[in-house]
Amino acid sequence: MATSGRLLERLSNGQSLVVAEGYLFEFERRGYLKAGAFVPEVVLEHPEIVKMMHREFVHAGSEVVLAFTYYAHREKLRVIGKEDVLEEVNKKALAIAKEVALETGTLFAGNICNTTVYVRNDEEAKAAARAMFKEQVEWAVEAGVDYILGETFNELGEAMLALEVIKQYGKGTPAVVLLVPSARDVTFDGVPYAEACLRLEEAGAAVVGLNCGRGPETMLPLIAEVKKVCKGPVACLPVTYRTSEEFKTMQSLVNPKTGKRSFPIDLPAHFVGRSEILDFGLECKRLGVEYVGLCCGNCSHYMRTLAETYCRQPPASRFSPDMSQHYMYGDKNKFKKYNTEDLVAAKN
Ligand SMILES: [Zn+2]
Repeated sequence: MATSGRLLERLSNGQSLVVAEGYLFEFERRGYLKAGAFVPEVVLEHPEIVKMMHREFVHAGSEVVLAFTYYAHREKLRVIGKEDVLEEVNKKALAIAKEVALETGTLFAGNICNTTVYVRNDEEAKAAARAMFKEQVEWAVEAGVDYILGETFNELGEAMLALEVIKQYGKGTPAVVLLVPSARDVTFDGVPYAEACLRLEEAGAAVVGLNCGRGPETMLPLIAEVKKVCKGPVACLPVTYRTSEEFKTMQSLVNPKTGKRSFPIDLPAHFVGRSEILDFGLECKRLGVEYVGLCCGNCSHYMRTLAETYCRQPPASRFSPDMSQHYMYGDKNKFKKYNTEDLVAAKN
């Protein structure tokens, strides 16, 4: 597998890439990692399930297999007292993703993210963050990734630092660098998202954009701004929760039943419908978003819908809904008369 070039090739001449994220929430939901620390322990405990999840996302349309090393960094492992398995988790996650990428002919990506130790104007904290990026970048490069995704940075400063490390130790591996949009329209260090993305692009990121934090409705206006200023490929990967002008991020959503903060355990109360994913995909396409996907809350049914809006027909499309075949709501000519008459009478 080539270590560079494939991402840029895939995005050249107006082409696009459909990318599944959201592993962390999905494995938490299934009972394989803990909400709170959110560490991908499942990689070592149940590697076969991680492999299946990769395969399932490819089946549903993902054109990238992203190694599940999100929050598999030194600080997160320290929090759960497992710093000793840091290298093993990273290498195992990379090996699993590589295997599925080779098997399915998809791109293979490494993954780093916000360190939770970065503090602006604190050189010691920055050095710690830099060291954390460096070790993960080196393991990803050693595994032969096509590119490295650096994501969910609240601050432009930390995103820039991640990019710097990828450039320094990545041996030419392209970087996709994404910021997580807060409820305000600027990064934590006060830079409007469009300007922040432009600065990352100018600093050498192959793809820039936004992921996580906001749902489709509140991420799209920001992406429209990013598209106006950036020259290269732009990424957009919202969460799959129904955020709004009043509740712009998934962290701010309130359960209408209890009046309490929904993040994270009541987020299922806010899932978007597939038709909203369809609208989102079409709008991304209209805006010319080249790197499109979904983050927290993502599931295969959403992924397939999104892939189809980008004119893909993944294997899962064989089972895309066809309600004409439904005995109650489908084409009445296909079903026996007595059946449909009874249903009308029952006011279904
Ligand atoms: Zn997310």
